[in-house]
Amino acid sequence: MRFRSALAAFALLAGTAAPAWAEDLLIRHANVVDVTHGRVIPNQAISVRGDTIRAVGPDRTISRRYRTSRQVDASGRFVMPGLWDMHVHFGGGQELIEENKDLLPLYVAYGVTTVRDCAADISPSVLEWRSAIAEGRLLGPRIFTSGPKLEGYKPLWKGTIEVGTPAEVNAALDRLQAMRVDFVKITDNTLKPDIFRYAVQEAKRRGLKTSAHTPYALTILRAADAGLSSIEHLDYLIKAGSPREARIGAEYAAGKLTYAAASDVFVDTFDAAYAKGMYRKLAARGIAVTPTLNMSRILAYLDREDHSKDPALALIGPGLRKTYDWRVERAAKATPEQIAARHKKYELSVKVLPMLVEGGIPILAGTDAGYLNSFNYPGQGLHDELQRYVEAGLTPQQALISATMTGPAFLGHSARYGAVAPGKAADLLILDANPLQSIAATRAIRSVVLRGTLLDRGALDALLAQAKAKAAR
Ligand SMILES: [Zn+2]
Repeated sequence: MRFRSALAAFALLAGTAAPAWAEDLLIRHANVVDVTHGRVIPNQAISVRGDTIRAVGPDRTISRRYRTSRQVDASGRFVMPGLWDMHVHFGGGQELIEENKDLLPLYVAYGVTTVRDCAADISPSVLEWRSAIAEGRLLGPRIFTSGPKLEGYKPLWKGTIEVGTPAEVNAALDRLQAMRVDFVKITDNTLKPDIFRYAVQEAKRRGLKTSAHTPYALTILRAADAGLSSIEHLDYLIKAGSPREARIGAEYAAGKLTYAAASDVFVDTFDAAYAKGMYRKLAARGIAVTPTLNMSRILAYLDREDHSKDPALALIGPGLRKTYDWRVERAAKATPEQIAARHKKYELSVKVLPMLVEGGIPILAGTDAGYLNSFNYPGQGLHDELQRYVEAGLTPQQALISATMTGPAFLGHSARYGAVAPGKAADLLILDANPLQSIAATRAIRSVVLRGTLLDRGALDALLAQAKAKAAR
């Protein structure tokens, strides 16, 4: 029943004849990418039943034991777990709900089989899609969502739950738990630091993970001590790497520094030796970091890079494209000093990323793709993000870990995701090249297996063509 309706959804979206599936699937002669150990196991067969991997092993053995009419020859190809984008947004207003929904197949076409939605202003729709996808009524990546995020009173962001007292935090968390959110997102635009800490502690007491932009007045270590689970954006780790973090934060809170000025001082006072010690302390507290490095890079270099002819622009709707203007217009107003400061900050971010890994902090690969965040394209953006990690000095294996293993670990789903192994979800990529050798190989997608459904290159191209046609309307 579930398969039949998913099949209908797929045929609807792709505009193609229904592929033959629902029966078992056998992937033969594959090089299996073992992300954990950074090695490739040659000539394996992978038997899939329903949405789960049933067996993996030497081709001769497995193919005899699990005969099925539906077979794929993966000779010379590489099979790895599907990608997780741990920071996306669906939003931009009620009138963009359909355009956001159209992003779902786009993620799949790029091999992103799971996304973590970090809040915006169309949460009811996102919650609906989460169920529809899980029940096989809609084609898209598995969605984990925070629902609406917590903020202070009258913040810049739309669609938030505004809290200013512990009682309001309690009521907000009750509401989020009633929505069965997967984690809690908290941001600092107008939220008071003591309420921030209370929200983190209370969420933890209720067994909820938290992900945040931390208030400047609070050191990252204090946020970690309160029990914060993940920090969004690498900038905050530059802040944590300044020995003067607490003093600068206090000056900002006292109104002696603007947000931008404080951010520049964190960069100017960053101290590598101090930072290394701090990152070990943060790692010991179990906090994870979503760097969104590619986003930082795009914004830092808007002054010299023209994105107006990016081919991926054709894949997203006109309303979403329009939301990109906000950041572009803001960047256009920047003074030469501000532009230089942005470049400097990005150059430092690139140095900080490997220090975080060295310190033992889990990295969650995430893009910040969706609306507002210009030229950071849903689907493609994750491959760009992984490329930035490797450019910054991570190994391809470390980049792959950040996009396949740390996300499941963060959300408590490691038993089900993160490896090509029996009992794991049949969310797989079949690649033309070895991603452990070159991270660019994650872009060379031959097929995606989505919850047991094989989408070959033709089907993936059909999804892309469909996205293009819808965006052009
Ligand atoms: Zn974000």
